[in-house]
Parts: sequence; structure tokens; C-alpha cells
Amino acid sequence: MDVTKYIVENIDRAVENRWLKVYYQPVIRSLTGALCSMESLVRWDDPEVGFLNPDQFIRTLELSNQIDKVDRYVVEQVCSDLHDRIQEGKRVVPVSINCSRLDFTLCNMLEVVELAVARYEIPREYIHIEVTESMIASDQTLMSCVIADFKNSGYEVWMDDFGSGYSSLTFLKDYQFDLLKMDMNFLSSFTERSKKILRSIVIMAKDIGLKTLAEGVETKEELDYLRDIGCGKIQGYYYGKPQPIEEMFAHLEDIHVTTETREEGLFYEQACAHIAPTDVPLEIFEDDGKNFRTLYMNRAYKKQIFEDDPDLEEADRRIYHTPSPLQKKYREFADKVEKSGQEEVFYYTGTSSYLQLRAECLAEYEGRYLIKGSILNISLDTDREKTEKLDRRLRELNQMFEVVNLMDIRNNTFSALLGKMKFDADYGEGDSLAHILQVIADRRIHPDEKDAFLSFVKCDTLLKRIDGSRHGYVSAVFRVMQPDGGYTPEEIILMTVSGTRGNEFLFCTKLWQNAELNEPKGTDR
Ligand code: C2E
Ligand code: MG
Ligand code: MG
Repeated sequence: MDVTKYIVENIDRAVENRWLKVYYQPVIRSLTGALCSMESLVRWDDPEVGFLNPDQFIRTLELSNQIDKVDRYVVEQVCSDLHDRIQEGKRVVPVSINCSRLDFTLCNMLEVVELAVARYEIPREYIHIEVTESMIASDQTLMSCVIADFKNSGYEVWMDDFGSGYSSLTFLKDYQFDLLKMDMNFLSSFTERSKKILRSIVIMAKDIGLKTLAEGVETKEELDYLRDIGCGKIQGYYYGKPQPIEEMFAHLEDIHVTTETREEGLFYEQACAHIAPTDVPLEIFEDDGKNFRTLYMNRAYKKQIFEDDPDLEEADRRIYHTPSPLQKKYREFADKVEKSGQEEVFYYTGTSSYLQLRAECLAEYEGRYLIKGSILNISLDTDREKTEKLDRRLRELNQMFEVVNLMDIRNNTFSALLGKMKFDADYGEGDSLAHILQVIADRRIHPDEKDAFLSFVKCDTLLKRIDGSRHGYVSAVFRVMQPDGGYTPEEIILMTVSGTRGNEFLFCTKLWQNAELNEPKGTDR
């Protein structure tokens, strides 16, 4: 039988008798592993010629100017399927619909969609339109209007098969897409080259405010790579082939994939926008008020705190589910970040390291928070010799000092890393660095040594003085008031924190014991 002829002559019967079927393929949010949307893909299940895939009839129907019959059918069926699920109280996610360029000349596709969403009471944000580069290339003026019209009416427009055609970059410049679907050809040969291309596309897409989706994901290796470079959404056989809607949901249940709500989708979308390939340590974690869950952690971040490359579950086990006094501190810090709405800094000591965690809250939804964090292991340094020196010094610090504070010049703060200052009560948490140093000078340093203390801690000359010292730090002894009101000599040592370009210094103190050292090293007095 001549199938082409059969298709051309029987499309109306196929529509009438519902031989056309809409299949759905899941799209998964890479941050959470939950279903976030699905793509509608048409099939023709014919009583005479059997089961046909789109590549067997789409082209034929385009050539015979009948493709709109298929796409109008699909729009109607998608809205009806969504409607049925909503009626049954089941969750739904947005559906992206494929179009052909001819749809827009053979019929008024926007009107078709508008009528269907109205009839089935589907919010417009549940329908996305997929267009391809080749559609744009074939008629730029028309497609420019089509894209603008759909967007202005409240529909997302996605660019399908990005990278399979030509002139793609120009199209990205001129058309306001919401999302870029990277063509599955990039994954069909998953080489170092194609990985780098995908990575560059993600960086570029994020730069111009586009969401990203990778098609044709079949293996765990591909998935892990795409998650690592911050690709927002994943589609492919790894999570499921196109299937009738209820079978698709049943399959997802079998593989323990949950379905996000619209609100959750918008919540996680906000975090996704912050993830792009970078060498700066970056993590995103979720706090539900009780527990923390890491959603994203890049290699650079892992390198700061682990010696190996654990997966996120293992990382959570080590960080959050291992008993340690730090658990309480993490909770306090998260609460602070969530309340303040701005970047906060937290210093803590690991087994043999000092770490600085910077974090900011990205989004809140029903008591759940998404927090973006960056970490710096102060005792790590790329310069090996320096690292060893600093490690040694920090290990010494642990044993030597009663108190270690951090002077952060850029952020104008003074905070405790280790121990408690005797004069903590004299100032508040939000006070500026200069103010705190002045308070210490005024109230705790012996009046005769107040001026000397102030010039010793003077920030603008500090780096130069430390650089000029033989020891890599400066130290001096001052008489410091004790709780009983008397004065006792204490050694104060100031040193740079490596990797902070002279923006951060450690302020360490210990009781001065003449017997231990004859004279203070590197003294500035
Ligand atoms: P597309 O829009 O790029 O759809 C993705 C195609 O890739 C689908 O093929 C899907 O089954 C397949 N695919 C998804 N994941 C994987 C994977 O992991 N590995 C491999 N090897 N393939 C995967 P399908 O359903 O045969 O559709 C082919 C094309 O037909 C679509 O490409 C789309 O351009 C067109 N098409 C499908 N449905 C419609 C429709 O309703 N209207 C119009 N105009 N075109 C449609
Ligand atoms: Mg598509
Ligand atoms: Mg595609």
C-alpha cells in the first residue's frame, strides 16, 4: 500500500475516528528530580496501516497543506486531557505543544489555542508552544509576529531542537524565547567536545535569561553532567518514552518520580536561574524549617570541604546528619539568612580547617527556603608552600589562642571564629569593625596603651606591615582588663587570611607568658 497516499487521503477520517493519539513524554526538573512539564507528541494508530510515528506522517501532511488538522487535534486533546485530570483532583504540569510553520498560515493557531483553553478552563501558563529554528528560518516576518502574539497572550514559547539548524544565535538575539531546548544530537555523541558545547550553551542561555532543557537524555552519565552544568530541565528515555497520559504518570510512580505543583515549579525556577557553570564554589540547599537538603553542589564547592566526590545524598549525610555541635550552628545561621534577606557570613572550624560560608536566601514558599551558598576553606590555598605554612599556623592557632576573631575589612565586620572575647558584651553583632576596635581600646586596653593599640590595629596599613614582617604576621602585647577589673598582659596577633587579598585578617589573643617567649615576635610597637 502507498502509505503516503493513504495519509493524505485519510487524515480527516483519522481525526474524526480519533486514530490520532497524543502521547506525553516527561520533562524533569534537574534540581529536584520531579516532573515539571511534559511534551505532547502525536501518534497515528491506524486500523489498516497500523501504528505510525510522526516522522512517518508529519512531513507528508505538511507537503499536502494539512498539518494544521493534526495540530488542532493535538491542542484540543491536550486541553481535554489536562481538564480530565484536574476534574479528578490529580496533579497536572504544563504541556509543550509542537507546531509546524504552516499551522500559522493554514489556520489561526493562537485562536485555536485560546478557544481550547477557554473551553476546558486551562490556565494559559499550562500551555507552552514549541517552535524550531527551521520554522523561523523559513519565514522570519511571520514567525516574529507569531512568537510575539503567543507571548503577549500569556503563553511560554520554547525553542525546540536548538543547535540542529543554522543561524541559531541570530534567532536568539531577535526572538524572545522563554526556554532553549538543546537538540539531542549533542548527546548522541557524548564527547568532551559536545560536553563543552553544551556547557557554553547553558552559560550563554542563562546570561540572556533563558531557561534550559536538554532533550534525548538516556544515561545517568549524561544526566549527571547536565545537572552539574546547571541545565534546568531534562527530557529523554532516561526518565521515560512518550506514552499515553495515564501510562506516563503510572510509569513515573513506578520509578518514584513525583509531580511538582505550579507553585513549587515557580519556587525552584528562582533557584535554577542562579546556577551556571562556574569555578566559584556554589551550592543551593533547601530548608524546610527542620531539615536541610542540598539540591545543587558544584565541584568547586565539594573540593573545599571533601577529599572525594560524594553524591548529594552522601554529602547531606556527612554535613547534616552527622552529630556535631555544628548542627545547631547551621540552624541558627539558616534562620539568620532567612530573616535578614541579605547575604550573611558564617565562620566555622572543621577538623583541621577554617571555613567561611556565605549565604543568601533566594526564595520562600510556605515555610520552605532556598538558600544559595558559597564556601571558602581559609586553610586551603593553591600555593602549596603557603598552604602548608598556613595549615601549620592554623593548627597552632587552635592550640595557642584563647580567642580568634575575624576582621573583615570589606564588609566592615568583626566576628568570633574561636572562643569568646572577654569584651564581647561591650558591642553588638551589627556594629562596625572600626566601632568595635574603638570600644575595645576605650574600655579594655590599659589607658596608657590605648593609642598604641589603635595604631596597631589600624586597617589601612595592616597588610603592608604584615607583608613587611619576617613572620607573616604582626603581634604586640597589651595590658588587657580582666573580669576582676585588673590588667593582665595579653599578646594580640594579626595575620592575613589567605585568598582574601588583604580584606580579611585574623585577630588572635592569648595570655602573655614571659617564660614562654622572650619578646613578642614581629612586634609593631
Ligand atoms: P521533537 O519535538 O524534537 O520531539 C522529540 C523526539 O525525540 C520525539 O520523537 C521523542 O520520542 C524523541 N525522543 C525523546 N527522548 C528521546 C531519547 O532519549 N532518545 C531518542 N533517541 N529519542 C528521544 P517523536 O515523538 O517521534 O517526534 C518526532 C518529531 O515529530 C518531533 O520532534 C516533532 O518535531 C514532530 N512532532 C511530534 N508531534 C508533533 C505534533 O503534534 N505536531 C507537529 N507539528 N509535529 C510533531
Ligand atoms: Mg518538540
Ligand atoms: Mg526536539
